[in-house]
Amino acid sequence: MAAGWPPQRHTSLASLNPRGGEGELRARACSATARSGAGDAAAERARPGLRVGAAPPAAGAAAAKEERIVVLETENAALHLKLAERFKQDLKSLRSFAFELSKKFQRQSQTYLYQILTAVQGIQLQNEAMQIFQIKAFDLEQSLQEVTERYEKEKQKRRALHNSLVELRGNIRVHCRIRPLLPFDTTGHSISQDRQRTFSEKVAHAADDETVLVKCSRPGHTSINKTFQFERVYNASESQDTVFADVAPLLTSLLDGYNVCIMAYGQTGSGKTYTMLGPQLEENFPFSTEDESELGIIPRATQEVFRLISEKPSGSYWVEVSVVEVYNNEIFDLLAKDSCGKVFGVKRDVVTTREGKSDVPLLTHETVENASEVLHLVSKSLQLRVRHPTLVHAHSSRSHLVVTLTITTVDSGENFGTSWEEEQTSQRLNKEVSCTFPQKMRDNKSTSSSRPSSPAQLEATEKMKQVKTRLQLVDLAGSECVGMSGVTGAALRETSFINRSLSALADVLGAIAEQRSHVPYRNSKLTHLLQDSVGGDAKLLVMLCISPDQKYLTESMQSLGFGTRARQVQRGQVKKKNFPVPSKAK
Ligand code: ADP
Ligand code: MG
Repeated sequence: MAAGWPPQRHTSLASLNPRGGEGELRARACSATARSGAGDAAAERARPGLRVGAAPPAAGAAAAKEERIVVLETENAALHLKLAERFKQDLKSLRSFAFELSKKFQRQSQTYLYQILTAVQGIQLQNEAMQIFQIKAFDLEQSLQEVTERYEKEKQKRRALHNSLVELRGNIRVHCRIRPLLPFDTTGHSISQDRQRTFSEKVAHAADDETVLVKCSRPGHTSINKTFQFERVYNASESQDTVFADVAPLLTSLLDGYNVCIMAYGQTGSGKTYTMLGPQLEENFPFSTEDESELGIIPRATQEVFRLISEKPSGSYWVEVSVVEVYNNEIFDLLAKDSCGKVFGVKRDVVTTREGKSDVPLLTHETVENASEVLHLVSKSLQLRVRHPTLVHAHSSRSHLVVTLTITTVDSGENFGTSWEEEQTSQRLNKEVSCTFPQKMRDNKSTSSSRPSSPAQLEATEKMKQVKTRLQLVDLAGSECVGMSGVTGAALRETSFINRSLSALADVLGAIAEQRSHVPYRNSKLTHLLQDSVGGDAKLLVMLCISPDQKYLTESMQSLGFGTRARQVQRGQVKKKNFPVPSKAK
């Protein structure tokens, strides 16, 4: 803007009007000039020395005043003109400035608008891209889920097929459980060496739910990187629930007429007793744990058997339990009572019947009505079980424990299927059907209404068809290196018996696998006792227990080798127990 803007003195509207104001100013200037012409003459007259005739002094003063007014007006008019000119120029420059400003503003607003539009378009594009991305991610997620579901289904199918194959071949199922590292893994392990604390290093891992990976590289030793496949592998974090979920279907088979045996195998301290019974508290009964989720296979299987029975017609099944311990190659009946009726482990023998089956004469079979009765009996017998602290495990079981549930089924026409296939099988089998009721039934102590209540009824009932199936739950004593367990004296003798019986078990499996004509069941009381389950017609599950620590590497490799060999054993199709089919002559 021009300097001096706005003009300070001309504030009337007329003076601000550039056109009107300018005309008026010009007019004023002309009249002032005209007046100055007249004034000039008067001034001429008043000028001393040039005076033509003398004029009166008052008139002279008035003329001078007039003259002065004219001069001032003229100056004023000239000033107005100048100001008008200046104002005009200022206005012009203001206009051009405003014009420039508006043009600039327009240009800039257009630029900004363009930028905003571009940005909006960009955002829209980004939004679209994001939406496309989200849709793609959603699609991918869905397809991943579908693939996972399909994979799971395929895996289930494959597992079912594998199970059928296992059954057809009569394979032994092997599940492997790797327990977590535990505080006692860090303690010194050699009795002869200085008791240094050795720190845990995990060498056995569950690579997936069917593979164990043993990886170890120690200076001075050949490094190991080996995998082992089993029907199922449980990692350290897998719960008792998960383990039992895979065992439960076998119990359905039990009521469908199959013998079942579940056996825990592994080194001392690897978790066999934990898996089979649950955590063992020194001062308590084993099943008194508050936390039911900690219960092992034996209490859970017992509960499941009774649950399954409760779904069947009442009185069509009854259950007997026996508890046997194999200690130093001797068999003890842990439910046998002495003359005072106190529970007392009594030595028994195992024999082979004429049918080639193993049997323990005089073994106590207690008839039980529910799971808690079973667990009560098992708890009492466990107090008789021999334990001995070793350096590996303070509560090491020094004996093999065999809990057997015998389920007798009375044919009411609803139990066991009677399909063509089953009838065909039943004609070939069923020679071992027992027609005797347990003593408790004979005594008619039972409150069950469907049980016989009169001798005539009893006789009639006895003629009914029955079939016995057996669930054997085995907690083996731990295999162990003598050096590592640090035992001496009687305990060393125990260890030697334990190792011999486990070797006998491995030999039996080897003989069956090689289909040798002679299987050395009688080399040990353990194998003789388990003969029907290991070599016979039972569905057999070996629960391999592994300590993951590096210091148990040799034992773990031995156990994994045992499991691998056990899997390869083919015993022929597992047989189902069926009711005798009435002969046509009858
Ligand atoms: P084993 O019968 O093979 O000699 P135990 O079953 O007595 O061994 O287990 C040894 C110790 O390890 C016990 O204190 C047990 O509670 C603990 N243990 C074993 N397996 C597990 C597991 N999966 N989770 C937690 N603790 C376990
Ligand atoms: Mg044990």
